[in-house]
Amino acid sequence: MRLLLLLAKGKARLARNALSVSMASLPSVSTRGRSTVTGKQAENRTRWNNHGKASGNILFQGLILGLFASEKENEASQFTSAGDAFDKVVSGKLSELLTISGPPLKKGKTRIFHGLHQDFSSIVVVGLGKKGAGVNDLENWNEDKENIRTAVAVGCRQVQDLEVTSVEVDPCGDAQAAAEGAVLGLFEYDELKQKKKPVVEVQLHGSDGIEAWKKGLMYAKGQNLARYLMEAPANYITPTRFAAVIEEKLKSVGSNVTVHIRDKSWIEAQQMGSFLSVAKGSDELPIFLEIHYKGSSDANEPPLVFVGKGITFDSGGISIKPSANMDAMRADMGGAATICSAIVTAAELKLPLNIIGLTPLCENLPSGKANKPGDVVRAMNGKTIQVDNTDAEGRLVLADALCYAHSFNPRAIVDAATLTGAMDVALGSAATGVFTNSDKLWNHLYKASILTGDRVWRMPLFEHYTKQVTDCQLADLNNIGKYRSGGACTAAAFLKEFVTVPHWAHLDIAGVMANKDEVPYLRKGMAGRPTRTLVELATRLSQEKESI
Ligand SMILES: [Zn+2]
Repeated sequence: MRLLLLLAKGKARLARNALSVSMASLPSVSTRGRSTVTGKQAENRTRWNNHGKASGNILFQGLILGLFASEKENEASQFTSAGDAFDKVVSGKLSELLTISGPPLKKGKTRIFHGLHQDFSSIVVVGLGKKGAGVNDLENWNEDKENIRTAVAVGCRQVQDLEVTSVEVDPCGDAQAAAEGAVLGLFEYDELKQKKKPVVEVQLHGSDGIEAWKKGLMYAKGQNLARYLMEAPANYITPTRFAAVIEEKLKSVGSNVTVHIRDKSWIEAQQMGSFLSVAKGSDELPIFLEIHYKGSSDANEPPLVFVGKGITFDSGGISIKPSANMDAMRADMGGAATICSAIVTAAELKLPLNIIGLTPLCENLPSGKANKPGDVVRAMNGKTIQVDNTDAEGRLVLADALCYAHSFNPRAIVDAATLTGAMDVALGSAATGVFTNSDKLWNHLYKASILTGDRVWRMPLFEHYTKQVTDCQLADLNNIGKYRSGGACTAAAFLKEFVTVPHWAHLDIAGVMANKDEVPYLRKGMAGRPTRTLVELATRLSQEKESI
């Protein structure tokens, strides 16, 4: 009787909010009360009954609770406030089980307990590391946030493995990071598989930090949209389909968004000869996608202009790539995917600034119409380019997009592109390489990345590299550097020839395009990085209008 009473009390104490997120490939936030058994949960229960694994009125619901490591060796680990509250509800049973089940829980590790409380079939205790670690100046990120993202992601995946379709997540002192960990950690692209991972609904446990939780859901959903677009095969995400997906996503966010899907004749009229020279090698029609988000109360306020490389498949063209791992080049539109997803998120967050997104979308294929090494093409601003390597096509499409970006009186231009293998060689997947002519813009990007954990590292834009692309036999510029070394830097130097604004940053995201196991809260696959850093940059620029 006493136990029953305690459980009843506990049930009342474990107040919960009604926000949940569905983890389909293109997740959407829905509002749903948790006090009733949802259709999915009921279905789940029946399924389990059929397997004979469980019976009776068991609710298949998970709960993730955080645990901080002890400060000193002989001290006990410390629950978060939600963990503490829950432990009290079960009369200290959770801490008792933790003690007898093994050594102190390490950072990013989990321990799972079943049948402790009638509301939750599984309790996953996740190790958060030391409390209040703060910003690590050598790692350039906030350690607390990273630890929470990782621990929550691992916990949520365990719940998913148990085919539990609903989980409540302890905010762990930073509800945004917890939401990001949950939603990023659960994402998997399985749209084209018959056997899919169970959809897990994630909800905040309690109501502490509900606004931050909602923000985290949106940030993570944004990154997942980029992952979805990048991971999807090139025969599914063509230029036309890419534009349609973004248009569809933006339809629901409000009337202050306009989408222009520019076709080939528009691109020709703009004299984007450099972009067209790449597109003409494929039968797939090019698109120039142009998005306007007017979040500022002043419609004429100079916009932040995002530009993204949108090569939906890159074979290399006549300078064809080796066939091993060529499939990964379906993600060569990562720049377009991340900047468009960042704008979708900025619009959902209703950030008070104006943003324009520009993405030249096409395929780079070899054919009788494709660019040949030595061909000379003319960009929108009249500059001629000798195409000595048809696989250096990203800079060709970006050249025209950057020229066009200048026509909007931009406050700043930020381009993102999976541009060079050399960037991956230089930094691997640790950080996006940033080449910028603006210390102020750099400072914003850098500070944004400390919060998101999706890091940036500044790279040089020296004249040294410019000389290696302007020394060209047939044209004003060569699309590859004179020497093999410093390929990411010569590519950036090439782009600089199409920029005259004082605040421009080029983000080479080739190294962070895919995740093997480096970022623990992302599964293996296309990473959608650095979408959250771009959103955070937009947030900063919306708050500090005088800074740039
Ligand atoms: Zn290429």
